[in-house]
Amino acid sequence: MSDAATLSLGDDIQEMADIGIVGGYGFADRIDIDREIDVETPFGEPTHPVIIGEMAGRKVAFLSRHGRGRNVPSQSVNFRANLFALYRVGVRRLVSATANGSLRKEIGVGDVAVPTDYIDRTKRRVDTFFDDYPPRHFSSMQPFCPSLNDTIESCCDAVGLTGHNEDVTMVNIEGPRFSTEAESEMFRQWGADIVGGSTYPEVTLARELGMCYGNFALITDYDVGDSIPGIEEEPVTLQMIDDRLAEYNTQTRDLMEQVIERMPAERCEHCQGHVDPATSEADPVWEHRRPDMF
Ligand SMILES: [Zn+2]
Repeated sequence: MSDAATLSLGDDIQEMADIGIVGGYGFADRIDIDREIDVETPFGEPTHPVIIGEMAGRKVAFLSRHGRGRNVPSQSVNFRANLFALYRVGVRRLVSATANGSLRKEIGVGDVAVPTDYIDRTKRRVDTFFDDYPPRHFSSMQPFCPSLNDTIESCCDAVGLTGHNEDVTMVNIEGPRFSTEAESEMFRQWGADIVGGSTYPEVTLARELGMCYGNFALITDYDVGDSIPGIEEEPVTLQMIDDRLAEYNTQTRDLMEQVIERMPAERCEHCQGHVDPATSEADPVWEHRRPDMF
């Protein structure tokens, strides 16, 4: 735990901010920070205290997905603790920023892809809050918020980035290793367009909590490189990702500010009502649930 104030499990849910941001710590540079909160969760510690402040004139809750200084790699992120912490401070709509690889020439390095669907290839991540009775099954049709997706895509032009949000399928790998040539080819045959490491299970946990969830992916590389038709780049390296993130640093932060400024005031109808509002005393989410969210 840090020096931040603490929100304990026994405390009432605080309505600190209904817009959430999850991404690299750098986004904090664009937030007029009010305070940091260590949020206690039934699932362990989040990767960072939740930062409450203002971006583009709107109240936001920001969580640095990989901690400060990127000390928690994707496969080790406690996604349940992170999402639950944002939920506890009032988040209803969540914008996620990631760095992804492209599997197709048409989606270029430096472009922004806005996924509309996903394929889960993770193996070791806990991806549900609903492990107890009664069973709660729900549709994963259109898993990303269509309203937030439109907002993100419409903001790309304004910051000088090319956006893609027409049927963009993201395959989420486990990592830390990148894809083999055979895997990359298989993903393309499956219809995947981009490859990433952090969007899943955020997207499905957000749905379980009744949040709108939209993701924008800065394309930093072409996965296995010149094995992709029409591509003449080297296979992805961590250095390559870091270099591209640095190169597009200002524009991705500008994009986040634009999205926060323009995003709808309320949750959309699509993202409400996916989850059966059955209750169970044994269920930590339901024990701390917000009646207004379901
Ligand atoms: Zn929505």
